[in-house]
Amino acid sequence: MQQYREIKARHQDAILFFRMGDFYEMFYEDAEVASRALGLTLTSRNNGGASAVPLAGVPVKAASEYLKRLVQQGFRVSICEQTEDPKLAKGIVKREVIETVTPGAAFSDDLLDGSRNNYLCALHRSGDIVGVGCTDLSTGELRLAIVAAADLDATLARFTPREIIIARGEEFGRTLKGPLGEEGPMVTEREGWEFDAELARDQLLQHFQVASLEAFGIGEADSAAVSAAGALLRYLRDLQPSGTPHLGRPKIERPGGTMPLDEMTRRNLELVDSMRGEVSGTLLAVLDRTLTPMGARLLRHWLLAPLVDRTQIEYRLDAVSALGDILVRQALREALDGVRDVERLAGKTAAGRATPRDLRALGDSLARIPEIEAAIDRTHPRVADGRWAFARQMNAWDDCDDLCKEIQRILVDRPPITIGDEPSICAGVDSDLDNWRGLRDGGKDAIARIQAEERARTGITSLKVGYNKVFGYFIEVSNSNKHLIPGDYQRRQTLTGAERYVTPSLKEYEERVLTAAERIEQRERELFEKLRSRVGAQVIRLQTLAQVIAELDVLAALAEAASREGYTRPELTDDFALEISAGRHPVVERMMAREKFIPNDTALTEDARMIILTGPNMAGKSTVLRQVGLIVLMAQVGSFVPATRARIGIVDRLFTRVGASDNLVRGQSTFMVEMSETSAILHTASQRSLVLLDEIGRGTSTYDGISIAWAVSEHLHNNIGCKTIFATHYHELTQLADNLGAVRNYNVQVREVGDQVLFLHRLQPGGADRSYGIEVGRLAGLPGPVLDRAKELLHLLEAEQIVPRAKRASGRPAASDDQLALFSAVNHPVIEKLKQLEPNTMTPLQALEMLSRFVDEAKNQRERT
Ligand code: ATP
Repeated sequence: MQQYREIKARHQDAILFFRMGDFYEMFYEDAEVASRALGLTLTSRNNGGASAVPLAGVPVKAASEYLKRLVQQGFRVSICEQTEDPKLAKGIVKREVIETVTPGAAFSDDLLDGSRNNYLCALHRSGDIVGVGCTDLSTGELRLAIVAAADLDATLARFTPREIIIARGEEFGRTLKGPLGEEGPMVTEREGWEFDAELARDQLLQHFQVASLEAFGIGEADSAAVSAAGALLRYLRDLQPSGTPHLGRPKIERPGGTMPLDEMTRRNLELVDSMRGEVSGTLLAVLDRTLTPMGARLLRHWLLAPLVDRTQIEYRLDAVSALGDILVRQALREALDGVRDVERLAGKTAAGRATPRDLRALGDSLARIPEIEAAIDRTHPRVADGRWAFARQMNAWDDCDDLCKEIQRILVDRPPITIGDEPSICAGVDSDLDNWRGLRDGGKDAIARIQAEERARTGITSLKVGYNKVFGYFIEVSNSNKHLIPGDYQRRQTLTGAERYVTPSLKEYEERVLTAAERIEQRERELFEKLRSRVGAQVIRLQTLAQVIAELDVLAALAEAASREGYTRPELTDDFALEISAGRHPVVERMMAREKFIPNDTALTEDARMIILTGPNMAGKSTVLRQVGLIVLMAQVGSFVPATRARIGIVDRLFTRVGASDNLVRGQSTFMVEMSETSAILHTASQRSLVLLDEIGRGTSTYDGISIAWAVSEHLHNNIGCKTIFATHYHELTQLADNLGAVRNYNVQVREVGDQVLFLHRLQPGGADRSYGIEVGRLAGLPGPVLDRAKELLHLLEAEQIVPRAKRASGRPAASDDQLALFSAVNHPVIEKLKQLEPNTMTPLQALEMLSRFVDEAKNQRERT
């Protein structure tokens, strides 16, 4: 218990799995917490009369399952092993914590999802920028990023880290909490000094054994990210005391390379998670035709980080075009199929955690690389302008063939997960191993040899060497030859007609056979570990290769999706305009028969940059709106797009807001959320942004809503000048087109057939005048009397003209006065008359008479309406 307490004192924030023989035991509070979290029985241990200590344990064999459950519930678990052989220990066995597992720092397959990275991010704020250090321990990827504080949300949304480390007490606001409705990442606080820039730099230099970070393209301006990365490495050193030799060279990201996508945009466009939090029904699900886990992870990454540089986008599009050739694509995909998670396998190998089966899987995956190369080579001759689409991937191509050959030479085809269960090392690799195996396997040759030798020595031709379970190896001599046996034969067993003997050399042989199994295991382990560290030392080469494979996989997946879904190559420009012919929504179109989806044209140009989109419920406003966002995003990811033609002026940011989305999790009111999201757009959108607003303003009273929607539109149009589509039920907003030069009205067409409404889903110029909400209510099965009453009320309300259309005052330019008239009361005849009175010239009696007339008139007016 003293040893336990000493170790526990150093791991206070973790549950300590304390190895005792075949169990990991937990004591005190750890035992209580874990027994609750895992449903274990809590017992107690009495230490020589001292008070009872609460105790709970899990068998070592089943530990990984318990570990997984604890980590998934957000606990950190320190694993304390016996670090010496109990048989050889003097006194208490030495124990040490060999690893701490946390949600962000996990290696084990059952804690990881192949299609997603498991990131651990460190953040360091410096003024209005934030430095990010981010690693996936399972792949060894290490990224540094500099982001504007306002974009931190978007960056975190992209990485979706499982754990974030920050300096104690540092404030990052709401961005650290998880996405809506999901558990957020675990936030771990570390000491402020760990983020010190100089210390952090040293930490990195030391870890990568370099003299300067310039080698990684990291300079002075990146110091916030260096601080974060330094703290990250320090934290990893605590979690993995034996080191993290597999961390790849750090890669730095600076603002401007990719398009920040905030959480709302990601969610509303359903890029990688649907509104229901699933993958199905997302853009990722439509495009994900990747065949390798690295590819799946990279595609997710690409979708969350569209590019803004035209040349970079064109590289990807060129490659997707080149893979449009079905034969090449098929050959590539066949080669990719069967390539396992090279990135994680390489990481595990370098970290000394790969099992024999893992290492062989790595070797077998590498064996497919030449086919991949051959397929890519078929994309020669070069594309139109003399540039080979794959030049960048293939320039520094290293197929790691030496590693493949080495693994396949040494490891058997299907090695076991643990050394010793089944053979792992091929015959012929090591002569000692072969000898031991020969012995263990009954050593028929050895037996025959001993038998021949003994026959020659004794002259007994019928002498036999045999084996039984009780006596082991023996020499059997028939009674008739008994007189010939030499002096060193010792009798073991008497049978009728024969005697069985052993000799010192036979005993020695037996000894060797019995220890052979042990030796084989030991030798196999030595050979395996040597191989693993030889391959592990090449981790950088393997990771580089894994990244190229991932990229080829994603490009082939995009080409495959393009061909299956009928997408075309978008034309990217640095101009403002966005023109889409016969665009489709890539996800919605898949939910119906191909020809059922109605394509629509959309254009946003400098002088027609804002579309006010009206139309009945269910007409397809949201679909059009999102389809524009998705097409732009796909194009900037480097994918083909669902349209017959698309000319995309590259956008720097994309915002999508949908009014009245619930955010109960964050305890904010629906409308408050809507407003803060809108506010974020108004503060960050630039002229090059694309803003998609769906029913903003809906979460409050009609007048407040219209007023806000109106003012927001004006601001976007006049002050920001970005491309905007605003879908709304407030038909009043169509009047914006009268006042603002670059606003255009569109509506989604419906046709009334008798009492029914036919949804045509076709976009046409002009505003809509009705919502057909009641017809939608009918479709949804509202009871007849309710519908009738609703219709009655609608007529009443329409007659009352609650918000009458403003008349433009003639001779005055369209100005804000005009717009204000929208909300002013109708000019009442009484008011008109009042205006003409001159109270100074009236007697009190006249005034009283006049007042009484006005009262009557006002009453009459109300009855008429
Ligand atoms: P609301 O105002 O009620 O939110 P909306 O106008 O935004 O409705 P959507 O949600 O975009 O309408 O579309 C409603 C449904 O109509 C979609 O789920 C889809 O099934 C169908 N739809 C939309 N657009 C098209 C289209 N272009 N072709 C075929 N079907 C479509």
